[in-house]
Amino acid sequence: MPGRLYQEEKQKAVNVLNDLKIKLYNKGFFPATSGNLSYKLHDDPLIFAVTTSGKDKGTVTHEDVIFVDKDGKPVEKTKMKPSAETMIHSYIYQKTDAGCVIHVHTPANNFISYVYFEDGKVKIKDLEMIKALDIWKENAEIEVPIVDNFFDLKKLAEESGKAINPDVPAVLIKTHGIYCWGRDEFEAKRHVEAFEFIFELMKNLIIFKGSKDIW
Ligand SMILES: [Zn+2]
Repeated sequence: MPGRLYQEEKQKAVNVLNDLKIKLYNKGFFPATSGNLSYKLHDDPLIFAVTTSGKDKGTVTHEDVIFVDKDGKPVEKTKMKPSAETMIHSYIYQKTDAGCVIHVHTPANNFISYVYFEDGKVKIKDLEMIKALDIWKENAEIEVPIVDNFFDLKKLAEESGKAINPDVPAVLIKTHGIYCWGRDEFEAKRHVEAFEFIFELMKNLIIFKGSKDIW
């Protein structure tokens, strides 16, 4: 497949990522060039489009997206560098049915990952917003895994990959951010908005109660 991507599918991936990037940037989800996004083109062999490193996500240029394989290596000649955390995206595509992955750094997700890090996970329950994560059971509850923010990005990708629970579309990294995904760009966006809503609310409940034991 390398070198044989169709122009149309490449253009679609670029359009999807640019559109999503601007919408999420406008919500304040990509401060200070942080975060990244990806969109899957093929499963076998895995090829996905991912945003390039260190770019302001509030603007669209012709150097925002790169096409990589499962090892995070560009499949076409390019001077651009894929996002430093590209391998986390690759593990998510390999372990789940994700078609789009969104990574954001926000004060709320950093706060929640800090407060619950020792538990290795954060429990979410009793919230109407859980339905936005496609969980419709009565008294539904889910647990989002939290991994340490390893400085070594290879180690960080491996540990994030190991923590993935295919039934829960997110992994938190301690005082860093969230990786969140969906089968397509609409679902991924809905999921990240739901998680950020939930974390913001939980942060307020923790402060209100003076305890992380809020449920
Ligand atoms: Zn990050």
